[in-house]
Amino acid sequence: MSETIYRDTWVEVDLDAIEYNIKQMKEKLPADSNIIAVVKADGYGHGSVQVAKKALQAGAKALAVALLEEALLLREASIDVPILVLGRVPPRGALIASEHDITLTFFQKEWLQEVNTYSFTKNLKLHMKWDTGMGRIGIRTEDELKGTLNALNENPNIYLTGVYTHFATADEKDLTYFYEQKDRFNKFWNVFKELWPHEVDIHIGNSAASIRLPNEMKDYIRFGISMYGLYPSNSVKEEKEIDLKQAFSLHSRFIHVKKLAPGESVSYGGTYTAEEEEYIGTIPIGYGDGWIRKLQGISVLVEGKRMPIIGRICMDQTMIRLDREYPVGTHVTLIGEQDNEVIEMDEIANYLDTINYEIPCIINHRVPRIYK
Ligand code: PLP
Repeated sequence: MSETIYRDTWVEVDLDAIEYNIKQMKEKLPADSNIIAVVKADGYGHGSVQVAKKALQAGAKALAVALLEEALLLREASIDVPILVLGRVPPRGALIASEHDITLTFFQKEWLQEVNTYSFTKNLKLHMKWDTGMGRIGIRTEDELKGTLNALNENPNIYLTGVYTHFATADEKDLTYFYEQKDRFNKFWNVFKELWPHEVDIHIGNSAASIRLPNEMKDYIRFGISMYGLYPSNSVKEEKEIDLKQAFSLHSRFIHVKKLAPGESVSYGGTYTAEEEEYIGTIPIGYGDGWIRKLQGISVLVEGKRMPIIGRICMDQTMIRLDREYPVGTHVTLIGEQDNEVIEMDEIANYLDTINYEIPCIINHRVPRIYK
């Protein structure tokens, strides 16, 4: 571990797993369909720059993020492939985006009208977002589409280079709504083609859509959660269409181990009391790291055995009930594999009644990321 890290809690990011997952996806895609690696939210908590570099090495052709700031960070790291910002950047961001060759998403005529008034020294590339049923952002009607396209010819430095949509239910068992969205996309496309004879890239699919229907994905896929080795839903996991390797694991070490006498209690509120003599280990992680209080009761791995978190999780520390005494410094795995036993991201997500996407994102930057 790096000599500049002074805490005994860390995340390990297995970059070989990122490469493996990209390659698995590439094998399923037709040869003319390419991968946009989605590295928003600091690469779903894994580290956007490191993941982006590995994904590109493994064959991804472009990157996507949610914010202009996230795109600029990638440019600062000397990454020079196309980068698409998926969210709405305020018009005032358009000049800086053009200077760094960052592609922006747009879907409002008013946005375009304001950006049209700017004097660009470099070209601005845009992708147009169509809301075919996600109900978040995007053009929703043919009239809106026509009006927005009309405003596209007014600034010679502004180029439309792509159109896209996003599915709301591609990860669900029932794909009826998915196909309704796809039909709406095709109808929009027919109108668009009539009005806009220039070539544009098309991308419609996230991980779930791409894994399930790789041949229907057009020029690019936007590959997010499964690049990190996580399945978008149980339905997709059960279908076994792709083999994935989880890249993220969370580790700590005991900073203290003690024996409790019967009747002695642990942590705030004294909510846990030992019924017999038992050993308790303390690890230096808590809700200040995103290891939230609701995780009380879940197990961690010590020498490949599951042991429960007892008492309230504190801001910086968490206590574990042990089956025997262990030395200070013993390795504890909170997420991931240890000696043939595994705590999957999905187990943590299920325990918290949420989705696996959320877990690496909430383990915050107080926890250093180590790359393997
Ligand atoms: N495209 C858009 C517009 C998104 O918002 C996201 C993620 O939320 C993705 C692609 C990637 O989706 P996934 O992580 O399910 O692959």
